[in-house]
Amino acid sequence: MDRWVRVEKRAVSKDNPEGQCCSPRSKVERGGGAGELYPMLSVEEASQQLLSHFHVLEPEPVPVLESLDRVLAEDVYADADIPPLDNTAMDGYALRAADTKGAAPESPVELHIVADLAAGYVSEIPVTPGTAIRIMTGAPIPRGADAVVPFEDAEREGDRVLIFKGVEPGANVREAGEDVRRGALVLRRGCRIRPQEVGMLATVGRKDVSVTRRPRVAILATGDEVVEIDAPLGPGKIRNANSYSNAAQVLAAGGEPVLLGIAHDQVEDLTAKIRSGIARKVDMFLTSGGVSVGDFDVVKKVLAAEGEMTFWRVRMKPGKPLAFGRIGGVPMLGLPGNPVSAMVSFELLARAAIFKMLGQTDSERPTIQATLMDGIKRKDDRRHFVRVRVWEKDGAYEAAMTGEQGSGILSSMVEANGLAIIPEDWSSVPPGSRVRVMMLGGTPPRSGQEGDR
Ligand code: AMP
Ligand code: MG
Repeated sequence: MDRWVRVEKRAVSKDNPEGQCCSPRSKVERGGGAGELYPMLSVEEASQQLLSHFHVLEPEPVPVLESLDRVLAEDVYADADIPPLDNTAMDGYALRAADTKGAAPESPVELHIVADLAAGYVSEIPVTPGTAIRIMTGAPIPRGADAVVPFEDAEREGDRVLIFKGVEPGANVREAGEDVRRGALVLRRGCRIRPQEVGMLATVGRKDVSVTRRPRVAILATGDEVVEIDAPLGPGKIRNANSYSNAAQVLAAGGEPVLLGIAHDQVEDLTAKIRSGIARKVDMFLTSGGVSVGDFDVVKKVLAAEGEMTFWRVRMKPGKPLAFGRIGGVPMLGLPGNPVSAMVSFELLARAAIFKMLGQTDSERPTIQATLMDGIKRKDDRRHFVRVRVWEKDGAYEAAMTGEQGSGILSSMVEANGLAIIPEDWSSVPPGSRVRVMMLGGTPPRSGQEGDR
């Protein structure tokens, strides 16, 4: 039996502030299978509904080096001034700036060297008028000294030194606390830890640090035609690309994929595999395939029978057939089966859920404005995410489609470094249109290096 989904109201979005409809096609969409009426949601509506099901996970301590690429779960404060004491930025002579007044190559000032000081030691001998201490980078400025003249501007003669250049007080001196003051907030909760954050943690004495636990994400492929990557490719079979591309996306976002293999297009097998996945204490469940309106699209059926389905279908291309709900207390996202749809809908919906669970504050992919070289034909009023290659030319960005845009064409995804966003209410996209492009990592190469990835 055919079922019809009536879309009551066109979504209002940033790209479509009036919620305009451009084509009568959007009024009524053919649906089916789930036995209920589900309005097709905008990307924003779907994302908002989905994200309301996720919360920040609990923190866990890790040794500082293992915190790389994790999300900081605590605010970190400095336990001491950094650097702890005034010290020299150069190898040279610590002295009183006043003693160097008028020093020049033709009229050097002569001082008596009273000590040698290496980094890591404090001089007990002070600098008094007419004296200097030979000092190495990082060593604390001796009492009485207020400046350092580098070796390049001095010449040693036995226990005396000739200074060829006058300096002001403070010259070549790094002040105590000039980097960080004791008690200052040095790292904020919610940041992704890069090598520089690791360095800061080390410098404030943090051997261990609190990071958010990695979200565990179950990944289950569906389809009688899908076989594992090391299985023979029999007639009518295809390899399981989605579990691996989605798992890689989970890893890149900071989650921990839990691969559950492939379920047959059969309620019993899918139900059993979903139940066993949930038993593995996951924070999110991803399936791919089986959410469309075909005879064997059983994911929606199982989602509705075992849990509840919140929404189905999003006004986007690729990726329209997409189901979301909960099973056994776990939010479950049924991604479409086509490999590009599965990846793009992960990008737009699942990735943000992982970032929310991690408590990461800046999670948006950067977007840029680019001039699109190609024209794009529109056949519907969904938001299109077009695989493009972006490059920089004369200080501006240009983009070109990477090839066929079918939702099964993974090669044009491989060539892409961004997704051009064509808003729902654009009826045509002529060549030369200015478009917003969501970058998929990395910055656009310069013109002439378009082949670089
Ligand atoms: P479905 O939505 O299940 O009808 O799948 C749509 C298309 O995606 C079909 O051509 C499937 O063969 C393909 N597909 C489904 N699952 C996978 C997978 N795990 N890896 C690669 N292709 C898949
Ligand atoms: Mg299928």
